[in-house]
Amino acid sequence: MKKVVTRAYKFRLFPSKRVSRKMERVLGACRFLYNVELEYEKQVYFSDRNFVDKNTLNNLIPDWKCVNPGLGMVHSQVLQNVSDRLDKAFKSFFRRVKSGGEAGFPRFKSKERYDSFTFPQSGFNLEKQKLRLSKIGIVNIKLHRKIKGKIKTLAIKKSHTGKWFACFSIEEEKLTRQNKRAICVGIDVGLKSFYADSEGNKVVNPRWLRKSEERLKFLQRKHSKKNKASGNRKKSRLNIANLHEKIVNQRNDFLHKQSRKLANSYSFIAVEKLSIQRMIKNRYLSKSISDVSWRKFLQFLSYKVEETGGQIVEVDAKGTSQYCICGNKVKKSLAIRIHKCNKCGLELDRDVMSAIIIKALALKKNTVGTAGINACGDVPLGTSMKQECTSKIRSSYALII
Ligand SMILES: [Zn+2]
Repeated sequence: MKKVVTRAYKFRLFPSKRVSRKMERVLGACRFLYNVELEYEKQVYFSDRNFVDKNTLNNLIPDWKCVNPGLGMVHSQVLQNVSDRLDKAFKSFFRRVKSGGEAGFPRFKSKERYDSFTFPQSGFNLEKQKLRLSKIGIVNIKLHRKIKGKIKTLAIKKSHTGKWFACFSIEEEKLTRQNKRAICVGIDVGLKSFYADSEGNKVVNPRWLRKSEERLKFLQRKHSKKNKASGNRKKSRLNIANLHEKIVNQRNDFLHKQSRKLANSYSFIAVEKLSIQRMIKNRYLSKSISDVSWRKFLQFLSYKVEETGGQIVEVDAKGTSQYCICGNKVKKSLAIRIHKCNKCGLELDRDVMSAIIIKALALKKNTVGTAGINACGDVPLGTSMKQECTSKIRSSYALII
């Protein structure tokens, strides 16, 4: 079966000083345009509670060019993309208003917040290790991997540490492999370990990652004590940005490897659905880090699983840690790491137990009796089957502890 997938490729750019200044200027011009368009939209909004679409904004660009001749130095499609961005911002603003959530009016962008410009179709050309950008010039690009598929758009991005990147969005026709045999696994996210699976394996957050995160906390504390607008504060901001970048890279590397491993070994992956409330309500840094990682991990996993022809099933796993696979309620606080059921006698790691229940819930959700479940040799949580299930798990997991 053929399927069109969208992919992003990110490459580092090495511009000369002259070109880098030009890109800086384009970025500044785009930011200017964004802010004047927003000012215009704001007036429209406050007079008749509406907004004008991107075509109207695009028709106004020549007028704004008279105010800021710098806009004339920018490729026309790049400027139109700015209207596109604002259009999207307003559309989602109105969607939020409609749904009754916290609306958050689109904001004016400061230098720190406006960090990219986009060529939506044309205006760029890639040849060997050179990228030709219209009205900017030729930039050295490090193509560390081959681009497969058709290039759709190109975004030029400046990181907080001052590095430049080219992000290509690609459309590729992919053959999805059809897996004959379903191999199932359940996964439980943890704070202590990155995840535990229903096979009894645990993946721990690597030590180097934890170390970098500790250092980040330290640097942030130090930063908060620096005088505002001082040179030292600027320096410390750059230190933090550098470390941030390093951590993101380290974490992505870890998440890519873990998701690849799962996608290659299993074709039915049951995971816990993350509630949005949990995202908002967390008070602890470690928890927010783990949530962000988990979201990204699911993203990576889902496109990899799509490639391998498998599937991911999300289940509402609220309270799974308080139950045994036999259905008995086993109350335990966070400090208790081992699950002990006094009804069926099952004893194993609590995270592994949760993973097993998540897997069972996902199998149950995916309708009983499909080929996938039979092939798994697993039994969903049904009353008559409970006994069989429990004894099976007991025999295979008793050795873990
Ligand atoms: Zn039990």
